[in-house]
Amino acid sequence: MSDDPTPKTTSPLGGLSLTYLAPAAGADTSRASARPAAPAPATGGSGEVVTAPVVIVGSGPAGLTAAIYSARANLEPIVIGGVSGGGQLMITSDVENYPGFPEGVQGPELMGLFRAQAERFGARIVDADVDRVDLGSRPFRLWAAGVEYRARAVIVATGAEALWLGLESETRLRGRGVSACATCDGFFFRDKEIAVVGGGDSALEEALFLTRFAGKVHLIHRRDAFRGSKIMQDRAETHPRIELHLNRTVEEILGTEHVEAVRLGRTDGPGEEILKLDGVFVAIGHRPNVAVFREWLETNEKGYLRTDGATTASKIDGVFVAGDVDDPRYRQAVTAAGEGCRAAIDAERWLEAQDERAAQQVEAGTALAR
Ligand code: NAP
Repeated sequence: MSDDPTPKTTSPLGGLSLTYLAPAAGADTSRASARPAAPAPATGGSGEVVTAPVVIVGSGPAGLTAAIYSARANLEPIVIGGVSGGGQLMITSDVENYPGFPEGVQGPELMGLFRAQAERFGARIVDADVDRVDLGSRPFRLWAAGVEYRARAVIVATGAEALWLGLESETRLRGRGVSACATCDGFFFRDKEIAVVGGGDSALEEALFLTRFAGKVHLIHRRDAFRGSKIMQDRAETHPRIELHLNRTVEEILGTEHVEAVRLGRTDGPGEEILKLDGVFVAIGHRPNVAVFREWLETNEKGYLRTDGATTASKIDGVFVAGDVDDPRYRQAVTAAGEGCRAAIDAERWLEAQDERAAQQVEAGTALAR
């Protein structure tokens, strides 16, 4: 954590250095809790142990909203936000559907605002990836960039990643006509000609959704049959503004400043063709970021983390889940933020209940001793 600017104080503990992260400069500590004041100065480096009531993993809308709420509840959260934090909005240009921004906002700017708001209330954000976790006993333990974090409660908000075709031209033109989110970006293609790539429900749904804006939608799939549901296939196949391109692969997206065309290859024989268009929506699936948690938490048949449904609680007491990592359905910044809020409230109530139980036990013990 050598490049972590976080102010810290440390005390020795069994050969390890125990670090408390102090509130951010300018943080509102007027409602500061009665937790012990941070002792001695920090050393950092290997063997360092950092403790916090709540550790949040992930710094997208879910993680940072959880941070805002838990910081305002005096839970002094640490957010282990990832090396390239901020989540999917960091690679999104215009965001026009996040409430409160009538003129729209750039994705990275929005995430900067989330972060500033979390830090204002004392959340500490560490720009590192979690490499390993131990959720087998409490306090929970998480390791990131050589530092061990110990937490009474953990909120997992690691998000999901859209899968991409892996073309150089796709990366270069992302945000310049290439997108993986029709809900977010469809509006920018009013009366334009666009392509959707994929053959599952996402691709069919996005193609149908995009007909609300686009003049024409080319649906490009590498097989001769879709794998999405029959009803969606029927709708796509019969839609007057959707043209199917089966047994086709996108070999290259053409354009310098923005998308101008795609070069298609065939999977049923030789030959190539160029399709002129203004946008490409890649809809070949998402991958939830569950790697370090898979061993500990339940996933559903699609690989997303499971909660109990009614709350954000996972199957491990004290571990909560929020955002796209448990949501294959909505996948919106605003729904992720809402889940982050729920997770923070769930964690706060759970910690309170733990404290009450502990206090009752102490009281019962004292009564017995008398
Ligand atoms: P999916 O079902 O896994 O489909 C992915 C599609 O992308 C497949 O057709 C696959 O081709 C294609 N693909 C994968 N990698 C590719 C590549 N490198 N190049 C070209 N094509 C590639 O993913 P999904 O459509 O996102 O759906 C995920 C799950 O969510 C599914 O269970 C789906 O039913 C569900 N879902 C439901 C709804 C709904 O009910 N409204 C909406 C969206 C999603 P192949 O067919 O050749 O493998």
